[in-house]
Amino acid sequence: MTGHAPVERDPRADLPGLTALLQRPEVADAVASVGHDRVVGALREALAGARDAVIGGTAVPGPDRIAAEVLAMLRARSHRGLRPVLNATGVLLHTNLGRAPLSADAVAAIKAAAGPTNLEVDLADGDRGGRGSVAHEALARLTGAQAGLAVNNGAAALVLALHVLGRDREVVISRGELVEIGGSFRLPDIMEAAGCRLREVGTTNRTHLDDYRRAVTVDTGAILRVHPSNFRQDGFVHRPSTEEIAEVARAADVPFIDDIGSGLLRPHPAARDEPVAAEAVDQGADLVLFSGDKLLGGPQAGIVVGRGDLVERCRRAPLARALRLDKLRLAALEASLAAHERDAREELPVWAMAAADLDDLRERAERIAAGCRGTPVETEAVLGGGSTPGARLPSWGVALTGPADDLATRLRTGDPAVVPRIIDDRVVTDLRSVPTEQDDALLSALRAATGTG
Ligand SMILES: *Cc1c(COP(=O)(O)O)cnc(C)c1O
Repeated sequence: MTGHAPVERDPRADLPGLTALLQRPEVADAVASVGHDRVVGALREALAGARDAVIGGTAVPGPDRIAAEVLAMLRARSHRGLRPVLNATGVLLHTNLGRAPLSADAVAAIKAAAGPTNLEVDLADGDRGGRGSVAHEALARLTGAQAGLAVNNGAAALVLALHVLGRDREVVISRGELVEIGGSFRLPDIMEAAGCRLREVGTTNRTHLDDYRRAVTVDTGAILRVHPSNFRQDGFVHRPSTEEIAEVARAADVPFIDDIGSGLLRPHPAARDEPVAAEAVDQGADLVLFSGDKLLGGPQAGIVVGRGDLVERCRRAPLARALRLDKLRLAALEASLAAHERDAREELPVWAMAAADLDDLRERAERIAAGCRGTPVETEAVLGGGSTPGARLPSWGVALTGPADDLATRLRTGDPAVVPRIIDDRVVTDLRSVPTEQDDALLSALRAATGTG
C-alpha cells in the first residue's frame, strides 16, 4: 500500500449541514412562521446553489451566509401570498388586481358574516329560509325584473343559463359575438362546456334580424346575445336592437338570453355605451346576465335576472348548487346592492373614483410628486374590467425619474405594494384608481422605491 498521491479534499464537504442550519435561531424562527417544509425546501435550494458555486471555484460560504440567503428567499416568496396592493394603474376595475374594491359597508358585512349567520334560516319563524333571497329580491327591484339570482361569476351565470335552456339543443348566436373575454373565457368553449350546439348566424361585422329569424327551428333552445365588452367595432357594422331580437324570440317562443357583461344598474356619463340591466329587461330580454364585480361595484358574482319561471329553473338546476355563492360574498353583495337602492352609488369605490374631481386629482399629484421628486403628469384612466372600451377618464398621476423596470419592480415588492403603469418608458402612478386615504401610504412607498425617503 504505497504511492498514493495525496487526495485533494472535496471543498463541498465543508458546507454546513441541513440539521445544523435548522438549529440556528433565525432559521428556527422562520420554521415557526412559515412551516418546516418550506424552510427545508429553501435550505436545500440554497445548499444546491452553494455546491455548484464551490465547484465553480467560489469560496465555501459559511452558515451565516447560507441562512441569510434562505431568509431572503423566503421573504421574496412571501410576496406571492395574497396581500393588499395599491392600484396605481389608472384601470379602476383591474381584473388582475381583483376588480371592484368593496365599499366600507360591504367589508363590514363580510366581517360580520364570518361567524354563524342566518344564511338559510328565517329568524322570524326558525324555518328554513331562502339562501340569498335578500340579494335576489334587491336585484329584481333594481332591474325591474320578475326575479334575480346570484351565482359564482359571470361565466357561471352564462353556463347555468345555457345549461338550463340550451343543453343538447341549438343556441343561436351572431358570428360577431363569438368573443374572448380574458384568457379562459371564450364563447364557443363556454357553450360547448354547457352542452349546447352552436348555431352561428350573420358575419363578423354584420348580423341582421333575418339571420336570427331564419336560424330559429324546433331545435332551438335559446337565442344568445353577448355584449362585446372589451373591443369596439366601427364602420360597416350592424346588430339588431334588443327589442328586435326579443320580438323574434317571442314570435318563435324561444327564450332570449342577453349577456350584458358589466352590470351597469343606472346610466352614467362615464359609461355611455354600456348596456343598462333594467333597459335590457325592459326591452324584452328573458334573462339578463352580468358580473357583480364590474360596474355593479360589488364582490365577484354572476347575476341572472329576468322572467320568474326561467330564473326559477336556473335556481333549481342541480348545477346551481355547484355554482352558488358563499355567505361572505352574499353579505358583500347585499351591502353593495343596498347602496344602489339608497341611490348612494358613490359609496362604492369604483363610482367614487369615476366621480373624482380632476382638480383634486391634480392637487394630490402635485403634493405626492413634491414629496418624492416626481413630476405631476396628466393621464387617462379607464373604468376597465372589460367595460367601456375606448372611453377615457381624464386623470393625474406622478411620473418618476429612473429606470422604469427597476422602479416598477421595487414598487411592486415594496410595502405597501404598488402596481404602477408604464407610459413612454416612465413609471407613472395614476391617482384616479388610488383612494385618497391611501395617498400617504403611496407617498412613503414612492419615497422608498426612489430613495428619496
Ligand atoms: C366579464 C364578462 C363575462 C365574464 O364574467 P366574469 O364575472 O368575469 O366571469 C362574461 N360576459 C361578458 C359580456 C363580460 O363582459
